[in-house]
Amino acid sequence: LTMTQSIGEERLMVAVRVRPTANAKEEKCIQILSKKSLYFDDGSKNKPKKYVYDYVFDEDSTQDEVYQTTTSPLIKDVLQGLSAAVFAYGATGSGKTHTMLGPNPKKAATPSSELPPKTTSKQGDGLMVKAIDEIFRYVDESENPSDFKVSISYLEIYNELIRDLLNPGSPLELREDNRGQRITVAGLSEITAISRQEVIQLLLKGNKARTMEPTAANQTSSRSHALLSVSVIHRSPLGTKLGRLFLTDLAGSERAKKTKNRGKRLQEGAHINRSLLALGNCINALSGGAKYVNYRDSKLTRLLKEALSGRCKTVMIAHVSPEGQHRDETKNTLVYADRANHI
Ligand code: ADP
Ligand code: MG
Repeated sequence: LTMTQSIGEERLMVAVRVRPTANAKEEKCIQILSKKSLYFDDGSKNKPKKYVYDYVFDEDSTQDEVYQTTTSPLIKDVLQGLSAAVFAYGATGSGKTHTMLGPNPKKAATPSSELPPKTTSKQGDGLMVKAIDEIFRYVDESENPSDFKVSISYLEIYNELIRDLLNPGSPLELREDNRGQRITVAGLSEITAISRQEVIQLLLKGNKARTMEPTAANQTSSRSHALLSVSVIHRSPLGTKLGRLFLTDLAGSERAKKTKNRGKRLQEGAHINRSLLALGNCINALSGGAKYVNYRDSKLTRLLKEALSGRCKTVMIAHVSPEGQHRDETKNTLVYADRANHI
């Protein structure tokens, strides 16, 4: 039996997940030391560098371990009217979508009648499905389930344009309320989720609608951020509470030079870097208790403002590949996560 430390009362958790190697023969640039630390070998004569995080998920980590450690502790907050956010960061191919949605989404698209009942989350399900499952479970087991309304929206940010993944069409605009406190997307579909089966189907359909552009690095490189928002409204004699959980599958963090990007690809890269930088800066500022945080630098940070401020909790899961051939991207990701962790 191992003691797992979850996000608990902390405001920010930074975790690293190392995906299983795709090629066992290749030398590795990562060696895991403990549940909190790893060595990175930069391939030079220098000694491997040690990195420490709140949690390190090794190659054998299960979807359940990742869920229980990072996301499950946020659910209670959301049901009590707070917001929370979980981010999957990393280069294309490092395992972000695996963590968020699960393995090979195409194969999982079985007819809804064949899916198991909604209270049994499957082994391979990603954080998005497991989180929705747990929210439904809480609601069902509460005294008055009809006091709760659970709804989801799913959007992508591609080239700083927002698209509805549940109802793809022309780009949507951000709206701010008078005090600039809550930001909404005008015209975004908000689906009142009824069952687990429907939710999975919606997510798979939405994921297929994501903008996929071939790059030299990967045929199906994701150049967009996919943002699932689960809203829970609780009405009671004491008042109405709205809590939101944001689960974000970020765009691939690889640098433009590696993918030999030109023209359109280069433009995408600039937008991606800008929003990932803005996100990193917001998280840095939060963990350092900075008085002023600039959310305005990107659509991503504007949309997530409510979750990145106040008493809300944020989890960053940085994804890396262990093989030497991915050394540069792995190092960039470890440094990004390290910066988010310390300062
Ligand atoms: P990304 O979304 O970061 O581009 P993916 O999640 O699509 O990367 O992962 C790339 C490939 O590696 C997929 O085939 C995926 O199923 C596999 N993979 C990634 N992480 C894991 C893991 N932890 N266990 C098993 N397979 C994984
Ligand atoms: Mg992906």
